[in-house]
Amino acid sequence: MTTETGATTGTDEPTTDPVAELTASFTELYGHAPEGIWAAPGRVNLIGEYTDFNDGFVMPLALPHTALAAVSRRTDGELRLHSTDVPGGVVQLRLDELAPHQGHGWAAYPAGVVWALREAGHPVTGADIQLSSTVPTGAGLSSSAALEVVTALALNDLFGLGLSLPELAVTGRRAENAFVGVPCGIMDQMASACCTEGHALYLDTRDLTRRQVPFDLSARGLRLLVVDTQVKHALGDGAYAERRAGCEAGAAALGVATLREVPYAALGEALATLAASGADESVVRYVRHVVGDNERVERVMALLDAGDARAVGPVLDAGHASLRDDLRVSCPELDLVVSAAGAAGALGARMTGGGFGGSAVVLVEEERAEQVAEAVRKAFAEAGHTAPRIFPAVPSAGARRLV
Ligand code: ADP
Ligand code: MG
Repeated sequence: MTTETGATTGTDEPTTDPVAELTASFTELYGHAPEGIWAAPGRVNLIGEYTDFNDGFVMPLALPHTALAAVSRRTDGELRLHSTDVPGGVVQLRLDELAPHQGHGWAAYPAGVVWALREAGHPVTGADIQLSSTVPTGAGLSSSAALEVVTALALNDLFGLGLSLPELAVTGRRAENAFVGVPCGIMDQMASACCTEGHALYLDTRDLTRRQVPFDLSARGLRLLVVDTQVKHALGDGAYAERRAGCEAGAAALGVATLREVPYAALGEALATLAASGADESVVRYVRHVVGDNERVERVMALLDAGDARAVGPVLDAGHASLRDDLRVSCPELDLVVSAAGAAGALGARMTGGGFGGSAVVLVEEERAEQVAEAVRKAFAEAGHTAPRIFPAVPSAGARRLV
């Protein structure tokens, strides 16, 4: 599904033309050619973690890894779904029988998008869809959002629905929340839909206002490495909901709708209020993380605007410390990436995504990239961990039609 690349090469370089390959595969599968092919990327979050369900700020960038969808319309109320990346045949569903929480495995993501569009009154009458993705799954790089967004965009174009990219992102999130049953925030779908090449996306998750922040790493002699630890600790499953509930309890104790309402300048006062109100010690830590990470997003944006990308490194380190010590969503493998990269001369590093495994990002001078990657691999080998997968995050384009 994904190809291995070294830390010093640019992007995945397919040996064949993926569009031609998917066109041929779709045609063989369904007996007719697709009407078009669309792409939507995975993403990695530079800074702003566990902030999106608090109406806060995030700053993701799109990866060169994408989900492709070959699609043609149907008029008979049938939905046929296939992924080149999972074993098994075509999943065939009736549109009028689609309902939340029916299972369907991986097919629930694209089926949920069709369901969400039809729920909102859009005239989707059926489709043949084949998906094929280079986004690593379950690595915290949003393979699920890529599937949702690429499906939504293709159907939007084919059925002339006239939805904007943010509206398609909202549709994808609704599919994941209500149909698949995963309580994710809006960051992943917005990143996949709205990122642009050479930029990180500053996103206010309260009202989806956003800005493209210049993040041309190679022009500045820098590299952002993604280190996929390839581990996923079971602990993570309930932890997201627990952190979410803790943040809501913190907001309630402070008398605000969400932690977004707490300005960084008022953090000390807020923590004192929480302590005095007898709030759980964990709630105090969660509030400190969320308010702090919102401020770190603002700080990173200011640094990038000022052309000082190197100074982002220490902010990443501070973000990791907060996720490890206050939110407590890191794990030994992620901590090891950060410490080994730092010891080998990286500018900064942090875990990214939900934690308990998944991936970390490492900001590094271009000429040191291979050396830092090697140091991380060596540290993993010495600790007896599975070898991590390391590749550069080249800020890439968001969702688009290819043909
Ligand atoms: P993440 O989004 O971080 O990669 P998730 O658990 O949210 O992790 O989503 C992963 C799930 O998305 C997979 O288990 C699978 O159901 C679905 N998925 C992702 N990519 C594909 C693909 N190429 N083909 C089929 N299903 C996929
Ligand atoms: Mg996901």
